[in-house]
Amino acid sequence: VDFASTELNAVVRETTLLLEHQMRSGGVAVLTDLSGDTPIISGNRGKLQQVLVNLVLNAKDALQDKGSGQVKITTRRTESGAAELLVEDNGGGMPPEVVARIFDPFFTTKSTPKEGQRKGTGLGLSVTYGIIQEHHGIIEVSSVVGEGTTFRLEFPAETPDGR
Ligand code: ADP
Ligand code: MG
Repeated sequence: VDFASTELNAVVRETTLLLEHQMRSGGVAVLTDLSGDTPIISGNRGKLQQVLVNLVLNAKDALQDKGSGQVKITTRRTESGAAELLVEDNGGGMPPEVVARIFDPFFTTKSTPKEGQRKGTGLGLSVTYGIIQEHHGIIEVSSVVGEGTTFRLEFPAETPDGR
């Protein structure tokens, strides 16, 4: 695949535009807080878009189960100079036994989806995990039942000063 100098903020903007209609019709608000200081990374734009689509649509599903809510996407530069991306929702969250399996291929809790939701394939997060590996990145999740879920992604800066 093609890797090139990539601005994470640009990927976030593209993806939120792409999903705008779908999110709005699902009654889900998307907020962004994108730091201009976020370092340039070496990445594949299409694959990074796919990662964000997967995370944001999962958040939407979690929020629609609840009936309302918001997704917040944040970028920033970490203390060690990496590019960080957070995708947070205030949906239903997951118990630890679900969290433990979410990156497994075909693991889904959406086999009998509600009205207006997609049936889960259980592939979104396993594909996402692979893409993050290709980018030498990190993906972590923290989730609290009844409060919500945060995915934290980190990518190495392309150059040491990251600009
Ligand atoms: P799918 O969305 O097709 O079910 P994924 O691989 O994208 O497959 O996600 C696997 C499972 O992880 C989901 O079925 C769901 O149970 C859980 N999950 C992922 N993201 C969230 C989230 N933001 N809130 C609650 N549960 C989530
Ligand atoms: Mg999914």
